[in-house]
Amino acid sequence: MRIFQREPKLPLLPLRNLVLFPGAEAWIDVGRPASKRAVEAALAEGKRLFLATQQDPGVDRPGLADFYPMGLVAEIRRVSRVADGTLRILARGLERGRLLDLEEGEATLARYRPVPEPRVRDPEAVRALTERVREAFERYLAGHKSLRLDRDQQREVLAEPDPARLADRVAAIATWSPEEKAAILAEEALEPRLERVLALLLRDLERFELDRKIAARVKEQMDKNQREYYLREQMRAIQKELGGGEDHLTEVEELRERIQKKGFPKEVEEKALKELARYERLQPGSPEAGVVRTYLDWLLDLPWSERSEDVFDLERTREKLDADHYALEEVKERILEFLAAKKLGGEEGAKGPILCLVGPPGVGKTSLGRSIAESMQRRFVRVSLGGVRDEAEIRGHRRTYVGALPGKIIQGMKKAGTVNPVFLLDEVDKIGADWRGDPAAALLEVLDPEQNKAFQDHYLEVPYDLSQVFFIATANTTSTIPRPLLDRMEVVEIPGYTPLEKREIARRHLWPKVARRAGVLDKVEVSEEALARIIAEYTEEAGVRGLERELAKLARRLAKAYLEVPWEGVRRVEAGELEDLLGVPRYRPERAEKEPLLGAAQGLAWTPVGGALLVVEVLAVPGKGKLSLTGSLGEVMKESAQAALTFLRAHAERFGLAADFHEKWDLHVHVPEGAVKKDGPSAGVTIATAIASALSGRPVRADLAMTGEITLRGRVLPVGGIKEKLLAAYTAGIHEVLLPRENEKDLAEVPAEVKEGLKVRFVERVEEVLETALLPPPPAAEAGRERPSGWAGAS
Ligand code: ADP
Repeated sequence: MRIFQREPKLPLLPLRNLVLFPGAEAWIDVGRPASKRAVEAALAEGKRLFLATQQDPGVDRPGLADFYPMGLVAEIRRVSRVADGTLRILARGLERGRLLDLEEGEATLARYRPVPEPRVRDPEAVRALTERVREAFERYLAGHKSLRLDRDQQREVLAEPDPARLADRVAAIATWSPEEKAAILAEEALEPRLERVLALLLRDLERFELDRKIAARVKEQMDKNQREYYLREQMRAIQKELGGGEDHLTEVEELRERIQKKGFPKEVEEKALKELARYERLQPGSPEAGVVRTYLDWLLDLPWSERSEDVFDLERTREKLDADHYALEEVKERILEFLAAKKLGGEEGAKGPILCLVGPPGVGKTSLGRSIAESMQRRFVRVSLGGVRDEAEIRGHRRTYVGALPGKIIQGMKKAGTVNPVFLLDEVDKIGADWRGDPAAALLEVLDPEQNKAFQDHYLEVPYDLSQVFFIATANTTSTIPRPLLDRMEVVEIPGYTPLEKREIARRHLWPKVARRAGVLDKVEVSEEALARIIAEYTEEAGVRGLERELAKLARRLAKAYLEVPWEGVRRVEAGELEDLLGVPRYRPERAEKEPLLGAAQGLAWTPVGGALLVVEVLAVPGKGKLSLTGSLGEVMKESAQAALTFLRAHAERFGLAADFHEKWDLHVHVPEGAVKKDGPSAGVTIATAIASALSGRPVRADLAMTGEITLRGRVLPVGGIKEKLLAAYTAGIHEVLLPRENEKDLAEVPAEVKEGLKVRFVERVEEVLETALLPPPPAAEAGRERPSGWAGAS
């Protein structure tokens, strides 16, 4: 290639990643052998080099086509040798040169055409452009992050008067790519060169602005993160101080696992997870978190799918009832009948009535319920409804109430721990109703098989299935059980025990139980007489609860005595020791009067805690026929007194009474033990007898008791509670009882022991009562004292 023979040539130094401009200086490391030879050659002659930048820095032995076509004539200002043999030269750009050809030799020579600096053609346009470049460059320097130029250097560049040189100097300083710089170097004309520089400056300024915005945003975000991080750290610290809060997340995860494993109905599981999500967000230890946690605990603690395997074997139940309870034959039979019907009824049987055990306290209602549960291998829970007046006690309070809890039913289910327990609803006769709603209505829903599949508790919020629960109710009396509730029940009455039955219960069940507890079962036995005395003198009750308590006391006293002075074998407790062991007797053994009564008669009353002997007293004092009544008597009882009085007036002569007694005497009827409310018509015959005695002066038999309503015409009408009344009469030591004729049928239910120990006489009229009850007047009847009777002072 000899075409460019007349063009100048210089040793070629190939540059990688570097573009130098006229007027600029740069240190260049020279490592490649060919390059070193070029430097050597230059140093040997004129110190000039031709610098050409490789388009691809990766090419090791570049040919002509590998260079940008515009290069630079430079002179070597300084040379130093680095230890590894590299040459380091300080080169200074002189003028542009267009690379034309390469000549291989000892050192490669570049043949080039010098490019002179352009002249200004349109000074106005150039001046405007130059100003803009200066201004942009100034901002460029200000906005550039890594370019470090000291003030003097900055001022020097900005003060460059020659527009072409300004463009080159800016390009030399700016951190642009070799390509971009090569393009500027290639620009021969002035205005395009300035424009290219300005465009790159403006592009970079825009980038700077963008960067600034991004940086600001990043900073903002970082500040926010920082803030949150800081607050979270602070919260952790506080939680740590408060204790436990740190474990909130672990706790939530544990709860989640428990919820998923619990076997909830779908709806309930969803509810639980929703509440858990809420809990997770709440500040641990805060009141709200506590409320949600308590709620979750309720859901988790309640049985939803846990059930015990049912055993429905009547024979087994019979054995269990017999083993645990003495007597009560009829009651057990009724219970078994009830269970049999339930069993045979299947699905329908489940919808049958609820068993309701009615009787005085301590007769074994609870204990029967427990035996039924055990024989069926179901869990047993007992919930007392006594004193419940508020619907919310059954159904719970809404969670919005402070300290809200589920109602008694759900509480009972939690205690049961299974979905199919035997559930004893105690004291259903003692629920009331007031403005806070009707608990009986709620209870009805509990017991109704149509509704209790989805029982609604206000606290729980989700429906709860009670359909597998075996409910049993207990009550002291049916008279105060709300009617709709009573209609759903199968009532089984337990009247109370005779002293003999009590003795058997004590011997077979109560004593072994309490003695075992006190650890004296094999060390002590109680004689029959001692038992009988405890029953008669230390208790007065229809059931055996007080008896059990006294026996437990006895067992404890003996345990203590044994520890103090141990004895060999079995010690027998005799009746005579009881005062020492149990203290002074509290009750008279037989309450019946020993002497005939004047102006008084013994009646029989029924109370929710059993039958009772009731004395009616009448005193006649001179006056005008006024009748006053005291002793907490109810309206019905007052009316019976009125009726008795009217009847006696109408038949005064027949009973030997003065015809005008109602004009001269006031009568005061009193029934002692005034704290006990007494009502009902069954004291009619007793009041009549006491009045007759008071007016006639004839005493009343002390071994006789009576019960019966009377009419104005003297008929004796039937009354209730015969079993309990006879039991009370027998226990009190009465020998003969007067009962209305129409009550004869009730005798069937009375224990044989009682029937054998009592003479029962049935009456239809008051005359019969008076004839049996009144004794002849005593021979020396209070001489001197005026009597309202026809015979007063007569004999
Ligand atoms: P209630 O529920 O009727 O008030 P409980 O069931 O609490 O009465 O009975 C009181 C105590 O008397 C219990 O220890 C019970 O086991 C016992 N008891 C009651 N009746 C009998 C009975 N017929 N045989 C054996 N123990 C009885």
